[in-house]
Amino acid sequence: MKIPPKFNLLLFILSISFSATTAFPHFFPNVSSIPPSFLPNTTAGAWDTFNKLTGCHSGQKLSGISKLKNYFRYFGYIGNTTNNFTDDFDDALESAVKNYQLNFNLNATGELDESTVKQILKPRCGVPDIVNGSSTMNSGKAPKTVGHSVAHYSFFPGRPRWPEWRRNLTYAFDPRNQLSDDVKRVFVSAFSRWSEWTPLTFTETSNYFTADLRIGFYAGDHGDGEEFDGVLGTLAHAFAPPRGLLHLDSDETWIIDDVFASGSSSAMDLESVAVHEIGHLLGLGHSSVEDAIMFPTISSGVRKVELARDDVEGIQELYGTNPDNNGTTGPSFGEREVNGGHRDTSVLVKILFLAVGLTLFVL
Ligand SMILES: [Zn+2]
Ligand SMILES: [Zn+2]
Repeated sequence: MKIPPKFNLLLFILSISFSATTAFPHFFPNVSSIPPSFLPNTTAGAWDTFNKLTGCHSGQKLSGISKLKNYFRYFGYIGNTTNNFTDDFDDALESAVKNYQLNFNLNATGELDESTVKQILKPRCGVPDIVNGSSTMNSGKAPKTVGHSVAHYSFFPGRPRWPEWRRNLTYAFDPRNQLSDDVKRVFVSAFSRWSEWTPLTFTETSNYFTADLRIGFYAGDHGDGEEFDGVLGTLAHAFAPPRGLLHLDSDETWIIDDVFASGSSSAMDLESVAVHEIGHLLGLGHSSVEDAIMFPTISSGVRKVELARDDVEGIQELYGTNPDNNGTTGPSFGEREVNGGHRDTSVLVKILFLAVGLTLFVL
């Protein structure tokens, strides 16, 4: 059948405007609703080849090291001068590995030991841990002490934040993604995690181009120089204020229901990733506190949506407290929701033990 030239042109324009940057992301209410035919394509992560570098150390030469150097360059651990790397485990790589280990609370040996490679393989946020040569995490600086706790939260260089007169922010979704109300509700919940502790409010608007915060799902290269890498690897990224862009990798398998069967697939919890990226939109960098929302990695099959004390202290340093939430009091930090919606009751148990101990002591 012959297609009329005009129709051909229309098809061409449509294919450019949709396939180049925007895709229809895959959402599932929960892991068991993912069709079996879909899973075999989503088990290999973007960085799985780093597995074979386990045990590698300075002075060695091994195929794949140049790719690892690119990984460290992407996240800020190797200077931005070149991407034409050799497969030599040189001093620059050793220093990158050491800084990475410090940031992720690992032994700073400079060697690619098993726990370091395991951490490197985890899916993570695409925002660098080191921006313009200055670490936004743990390495090379003494942690701040806030009250009795040690804080590791960080800001982008220059501490950009939304100005005083912009406390009521609007957000919108890229209309090309055609997101359902169920997906949009995930973001309502994610924004509320931050508004609960700050004077900020977040309201959806239908005008994508005038919204303060713009959210979209994209595949591969999508025009901002920070291309996505397919299944796992980088999951999302967001830009510091006042840019307001939050991008998610549409090649991931996103779970939108809050009941999560743990660890069984490469599916990612959408709200967990959204809460983290909103932290960046508001001005927070990465934290080396593993419990914190702003920790850079999250494993598949994990749900982590509640702010940790570290996140709250960081965001309140930028914006102050929520006048309706009486400062830092409110929901307990101890009741953390993790895998499969189970509650971590360790803090409650400790309090109970303390209470019993005190009673016995008094008697
Ligand atoms: Zn991040
Ligand atoms: Zn992007």
